[in-house]
Amino acid sequence: MKPTSPRPQSAVPTSRAIQTETLPEEEFWQDLLKVTGGATDEQLARLVIRASSDCRDWMRQHGVHFQASLSGTLHLSRTNAFFMGGGKALLNAYYRSAQRLGVQVRYNASVDALDLHASRFVAARIGGERIEARSCVMACGGFESNRAWMREAWGQNERGEWPADNFLVRGTRFNQGVLLKHMMQAGADSIGDPSQSHCVAIDARAPLYDGGIVTRVDCVSLGVVLNREAVRFYDEGEDFWPKRYAIWGRLVALQPGQIGYCVIDSKAVGRFMPPVFPGTKAEGLPELAQQLGLDPTIFMKTISDFNAACRVGSFDHTVLDDCRTEGLAPAKTHWARPIDTPPFYGYALRPGITFTYLGLKTDANAAVHFGGQPSGNLFVAGEMMAGNVLGKGYTAGVGMSIGTAFGRIAGTSAARAALDERACAAA
Ligand SMILES: Cc1cc2nc3c(=O)[nH]c(=O)nc-3n(C[C@H](O)[C@H](O)[C@H](O)COP(=O)(O)OP(=O)(O)OC[C@H]3O[C@@H](n4cnc5c(N)ncnc54)[C@H](O)[C@@H]3O)c2cc1C
Repeated sequence: MKPTSPRPQSAVPTSRAIQTETLPEEEFWQDLLKVTGGATDEQLARLVIRASSDCRDWMRQHGVHFQASLSGTLHLSRTNAFFMGGGKALLNAYYRSAQRLGVQVRYNASVDALDLHASRFVAARIGGERIEARSCVMACGGFESNRAWMREAWGQNERGEWPADNFLVRGTRFNQGVLLKHMMQAGADSIGDPSQSHCVAIDARAPLYDGGIVTRVDCVSLGVVLNREAVRFYDEGEDFWPKRYAIWGRLVALQPGQIGYCVIDSKAVGRFMPPVFPGTKAEGLPELAQQLGLDPTIFMKTISDFNAACRVGSFDHTVLDDCRTEGLAPAKTHWARPIDTPPFYGYALRPGITFTYLGLKTDANAAVHFGGQPSGNLFVAGEMMAGNVLGKGYTAGVGMSIGTAFGRIAGTSAARAALDERACAAA
């Protein structure tokens, strides 16, 4: 099950009812191409994009409700649809629907391994139990919750740190990558770089697992972000937040101590969804530096240099506006306004992993491949194959879009494979 989320989660269908406008296929594709830097399979990506435009009726048939985007979910009303009740309500609706169709659900049942005959699925193993079936869909997440594997994937940096030791996992603790590793060892083709993931800068006070969406800190583009040395390190206003939020976890991961500090002033308040924990608040900037544990002299220089470099035009957070810095490195290219209006707020940030991109190679039927050949009855969906579409980067909602599109494809393929085998057995 997905973690409880009091805020709605998003998918990316393209029809009008819930969104303010449609998102054309080509624009979605160009966004994906840009954020992945070309590390995507165009055929599979377009399949996801097209499926996202007609999945909503199917989702509704299975009890999913949508709602309009909330105010503060900036820049998303055109591109994203929101599930009423968030991910948990979505999953509960699907479970209810599956139950009505006669599907038996085993909770608290961790699959340790699959029995295969060459590339064909034979049975799943759960402890001492063996469950045979004509076909199988694997949809058991990435390996983001496996701290040892994450440590190995990220290795040691030039400062002698093991960055992954400071990562937090936004979702379930159960995505240990058990079947992903098992399948790779069994000869399934894999795709993706193990160090690439959807990684968001989240509140450093979030728990190790399951902090959920409420620990995300969404005010980066309205302020500045400093590292442990109290200096800025990246353009906070590079692009709209939904197109950039998923790079900030990685940016923080590359900083000393894997920590960052987002600083805003009262002009930003009310313009973003506040995280569940209130920020550190101070009437003066030196006091804020002190409370955040940052060197006040360097902190004040960083903020004054930034403030002096701001060329404020017409501030508008809904467009790529003309408020930018001049003569500052790194620049802030949009929404740059001096941090000068108390009270001031600071949020310590840590990398929050949502899901990893290393996965199993697949095709338009969602088949698992062995030596370039598709299995006839073993399929894969969701995070376990998301790396086929997302080699790196992210654009808001594409995670659920991949899961929904490939969940349906894998289910259809598995049903077809099971029926074919039954027909063969009967002949
Ligand atoms: C906090 C948070 C916010 C998010 N927000 C968004 C958003 O707004 N929009 C969006 O598009 N995406 C979002 N995502 C991503 C989205 O939730 C995932 O892309 C999607 O849930 C992936 O589905 P999945 O079925 O592949 O994996 P999951 O939903 O993670 O499900 C995997 C399931 O497999 C189980 N499992 C793992 N190993 C085994 C095993 N060996 N045997 C049996 N079961 C196993 C796990 O317990 C889990 O229940 C968010 C994710 C998180 C964590």
